[in-house]
Amino acid sequence: MRFENRLLFTHEATRMATQRYVLSIDQGTTSTRATVLDARLRVKGVGQQEFTQHFPRPGYVEHDLKEIWATVEACVGKALKAAKVKGTDIAAIGLTNQRETTGLWDRKGQPLHRAIVWQDRRTSQLCAHLKARGEEPRVKATTGLVLDPYFSGTKLRWLLDTVKGARARAEAGDLCFGTIDTWLVFKMTAGAAHVTDASNASRTLLMDLASLDWDSGMLALLDVPRAVLPRIAPSAEVYGVTRGMKSLPDGVPVSGMAGDQQAALFGQACFSPGESKCTYGTGAFLLMNVGSEPVASTSGLLTTVAWKLGGQTTYALEGSAFIAGAAVQWLRDGLGLIKKASDVEALAKTVKDTGDVVFVPALAGLGAPHWRPDARGLFAGIDRSTTRGHLARAVLEGVALQLQDLAEAMRLDSGRDLPAFKVDGGAVKNDLLMQFQADILGVNVVRPRNVETTSLGAAFLGGLGVGFWKSPEDIRKAWKAEKVFTPKMTQEQRARHLGKWRDAVKRA
Ligand code: ADP
Repeated sequence: MRFENRLLFTHEATRMATQRYVLSIDQGTTSTRATVLDARLRVKGVGQQEFTQHFPRPGYVEHDLKEIWATVEACVGKALKAAKVKGTDIAAIGLTNQRETTGLWDRKGQPLHRAIVWQDRRTSQLCAHLKARGEEPRVKATTGLVLDPYFSGTKLRWLLDTVKGARARAEAGDLCFGTIDTWLVFKMTAGAAHVTDASNASRTLLMDLASLDWDSGMLALLDVPRAVLPRIAPSAEVYGVTRGMKSLPDGVPVSGMAGDQQAALFGQACFSPGESKCTYGTGAFLLMNVGSEPVASTSGLLTTVAWKLGGQTTYALEGSAFIAGAAVQWLRDGLGLIKKASDVEALAKTVKDTGDVVFVPALAGLGAPHWRPDARGLFAGIDRSTTRGHLARAVLEGVALQLQDLAEAMRLDSGRDLPAFKVDGGAVKNDLLMQFQADILGVNVVRPRNVETTSLGAAFLGGLGVGFWKSPEDIRKAWKAEKVFTPKMTQEQRARHLGKWRDAVKRA
């Protein structure tokens, strides 16, 4: 017995020694991306693939779960090939995913319906009805969220109510509910694991933020049978091992996961309370680590789980702006002022300031902290001297000004100052935007060398789950800033900008 153990140990040690890579899978809203990284977090190979968006009716957005799974297999294959790494050399897999998107499948892995995507508004009426009944305060107190179709709970209820026979089968324990993380682990392990992590579960409207368990009151409110729910696990542990995959051999541990925004917070090494990151993509997501106790918001922000590691839960405050890079897309596609998104910086630099033009990017209403779904975009202060350059510059400033409002709400709710503002996402290449963001926030804006922080965060979690990295400190050491933007604006200039912005927001 002892001899066998030693043999096993030696065998394990040899295996670990050759497994020098971690695979990260980032399953996003429009594409899937797989990345192979080495122990020093260098990217060795990437595979990326887009997939179909289904819009069966106005306000409905769906994804085909089987197609998503096929893109994961394809991307993993491509990433390994690009990295010239064999599947047997992978020590761990970390996952991150578009959040809230809701699937329902049977125990054999057959989906009952296409997944309902986070953007889908089909449960607006149900949410309005529950709000009118006065349910929101307890929903907020339990889950940290608001009654909005964005979150998974009402989408799951819709599936159970609408798909023929689903409710009875769910009650009998024949069905699995899951967000995309859960679907992917289920598929990777050939159905052996039905599991989610606390960060993803905190986006369902069904989890109690304090106990990190499914909440009986919320399950009753949304008429969800417990038998359909996955186990809620930490963000790093071995959930299972691969079995029957086309792109990987059997036995590779799936060992870390978090929702995409939380993974980015982790990938930015925001491990201490007060540290925050902002991702500038189509929209912008600001998350602040608030430590080991959930902080309730009085400013319209959400409270969410950042991650759970070992027995320790870290919480975050989250605020999002629906429109960030999308405002630049609108300059390109709606107004035709630029040919490609990156042209906006050169156009904005043709003028030294906005000439007092202010832009409120409320192209899809205003989110936190204003919550005015009926607000619409606005250019204010235009006169005959206004040029295309002024408009472009005002659009970039408007994006940054929205984040100043969110940062202010975070300061108020958390009682903490932002030590620095770490940024990532497609729009952070824009130096003018980043400089103005630092100016208007009055804190340093820090752009990391690797702006793919979401993939990085997932890789870290996967690696931590098997001991490939020993502690988050390894990540802090590996995280490197590429450029720091320091505030240069005077207090008077700042106050003037903010005054004009606040006037314009009132009129939007
Ligand atoms: P998503 O993940 O939401 O698809 P990305 O992180 O890929 O978004 O970023 C794409 C967004 O960034 C687009 O909305 C685009 O308009 C914007 N963008 C890209 N380059 C620039 C730039 N140089 N300046 C400002 N915005 C940009």
